Amino acid sequence: MEGKIYKDYEKEFSPRDYLDTFYNFNSGPVAEREIVKFSLQNLYQTFSAGGLRGDVLIDIGSGPTIYQLLAACEAFREIIVTDYTPQNLQELQKWLKKEPGAYDWSSIVQHACELEGDRSKWQEKEAKLRRTVTRVLKCDVTKTPPLGSAQVPLADCVLTFLAMECACLDVDTYRAALRRLADLLKPGGHLVTMVTLGFQSYMVGPKKFPGVYLERETVEKAVQDAGCQVLKCNCTPLKYSQALCEGLCFVVARKSPSA
Ligand code: SAH
Repeated sequence: MEGKIYKDYEKEFSPRDYLDTFYNFNSGPVAEREIVKFSLQNLYQTFSAGGLRGDVLIDIGSGPTIYQLLAACEAFREIIVTDYTPQNLQELQKWLKKEPGAYDWSSIVQHACELEGDRSKWQEKEAKLRRTVTRVLKCDVTKTPPLGSAQVPLADCVLTFLAMECACLDVDTYRAALRRLADLLKPGGHLVTMVTLGFQSYMVGPKKFPGVYLERETVEKAVQDAGCQVLKCNCTPLKYSQALCEGLCFVVARKSPSA
């Protein structure tokens, strides 16, 4: 993976290339498929089996993807999705509004339904998710507040999947971003996150994007220093075929009830 590194998400990030690289569940690389399964399994354990629920969930750095919301849409009254780039927000809107050319998530939705016990309910789940997502907002985790002037209620859960390590290119920026995310939570609310460990770069189609190199201890410490207690930290050595990295880390944490 030689060559130029791209950093300007607004100019260079192609939602379609990203989806085709990482979420081609049926005919893409085995590694990427196994990682989607790992994600869905952890999310299922947290929101369905684990009983984490509430009113408002905010997903930060949603990108053009919806798989990370498939368990949560059964457990929250309202979901707010966010991303830095307009083209990702547009791609999300396309799926939410069932517009022509929207990405086909059905295989991944079927897998999420299978975990919940009935693969055949995938269309109901898609409809449920479309009803539950109430807002699609611009965000920048390097800014305070990350959602700009948008008025949002404090969340029962902030979810962020595979985004902080792309948005933040050094550990200090990552730590500051996590503190901003914790500020979006009610006292006692939950932060649910997955990050790539030992991350250096990833491919979005032909373009290489950089990331911050994080170790499990760095992630746990950043979560704690953001005022959240780590309840679960599930790491795996699974690696993407299309990224330079060493594994993944799924974390559930709870903001102090008195914060
Ligand atoms: N959550 C999705 C997408 C991750 S890709 C998934 O699980 O696959 C990384 C995302 O981080 C991209 O959508 C990119 O637009 C977003 N991003 C980049 N810089 C950001 C910033 N400063 N604030 C918020 N999101 C950012």
